[in-house]
Amino acid sequence: RFITFEGVEGAGKTTVLNYIYEELHRQGYDVIHTREPGGIEISEKIREVILNPEHTAMDGRTEALLYAAARRQHLVERVIPALNEGKIVLCDRFIDSSLAYQGYARGLGIDEVYQVNEFAIENCMPDVTVLFELDPEVGLRRIDDHKGREQNRLDLENINFHRKVADAYQMLKNRFPDRIRTISAEKPQEDVQQECLDLVQSYLS
Ligand code: C5P
Ligand code: MG
Repeated sequence: RFITFEGVEGAGKTTVLNYIYEELHRQGYDVIHTREPGGIEISEKIREVILNPEHTAMDGRTEALLYAAARRQHLVERVIPALNEGKIVLCDRFIDSSLAYQGYARGLGIDEVYQVNEFAIENCMPDVTVLFELDPEVGLRRIDDHKGREQNRLDLENINFHRKVADAYQMLKNRFPDRIRTISAEKPQEDVQQECLDLVQSYLS
């Protein structure tokens, strides 16, 4: 089972994912937890290049290609081997992030970015994608309150960019209704965690 997690900044994906991973592991599931861009050395290095706040000259298509490259390497090196061993793979962000951020918010075109990613992933789509829904303004405020978070190039984008990301996720939900499941991230963290765990477990039996 390949399960991915998506949503705007500050929706709590990473925290919830840590919880779900620990819980499934405790219950004896053979599960791994990873993230994008990154997850393995080469892709973490690409992540540093993409997100470096000094790289203000980075072109949108370059960015999309780097995300796809990081995705490809992570898939081949980590995700596919784990799936082949029968493991559950929980991944913080995947192709839908590229479709939403680069395809729609950056304006490169969802279909165009999908094509680049089709080349990168060769049909290895997630079995299910959990989309955390949250007003992007609330998400950004949460991030502001959380000072320990690493600075990145996306911090330069304004609220309109993040609104577009949220709109794009809604469009993707309509486009992939069988794959994308939504969770409201507005509720208290414990409720979101429990709801998300129940949802994930419903795909494991
Ligand atoms: O989810 P995480 O905080 O690790 O993502 C790092 C940054 O990369 C975020 O600011 C996220 O919005 C951005 N990102 C992006 N395009 C993607 C994936 C992530 O702009 N395809
Ligand atoms: Mg995160």
